[in-house]
Amino acid sequence: MSVPPSKIVLPRYIDPRKLVLQGAKLAGQVPSGAMPRLASVVADIQSDAVAELEFDRDEQGRYLVSGTVNIYVALKCQRCLENLDSELSARFRLAVVWTEEQSRQLPEQIDPWIVDADSADLAGLLEEELLLALPIVSFHRESECAAAIGYSTGEPAEPAANPFSVLKQWKKPG
Ligand SMILES: [Zn+2]
Repeated sequence: MSVPPSKIVLPRYIDPRKLVLQGAKLAGQVPSGAMPRLASVVADIQSDAVAELEFDRDEQGRYLVSGTVNIYVALKCQRCLENLDSELSARFRLAVVWTEEQSRQLPEQIDPWIVDADSADLAGLLEEELLLALPIVSFHRESECAAAIGYSTGEPAEPAANPFSVLKQWKKPG
């Protein structure tokens, strides 16, 4: 019986050059506990990360790692300050290089992954990609936001019971 890819836990550390030579493909989870920097900037992490990676070489002989990573988190809505369920999702294509110097020689569309040893921190890389995927600002949809004017459970609000209706009248010209 094979384990579905989503249930496989990816190794924390990998040797990306070896995986390139093998033409490897990896798919699996990274436990959310391996992503402390992400945990410190979101309100809550609600799932493990799920990633798919492919290792291969291009015509120039560069060692490439491409793939996707997803995770479910709660962000703070900047309008009502309540949690907002969000999916972070990143797609990446990186060249494994030894040095900063080599990374500057890459074409613009390929980002570097500087790995100066046989072992590289895969969880750290995927966390970095998720951090880059964070939205600059996050808001609920107006119909779902506690602070949005017109927020209700679908029933028309009693004007007297709705503090925002007063604001609305103030804003009307005349
Ligand atoms: Zn909100």
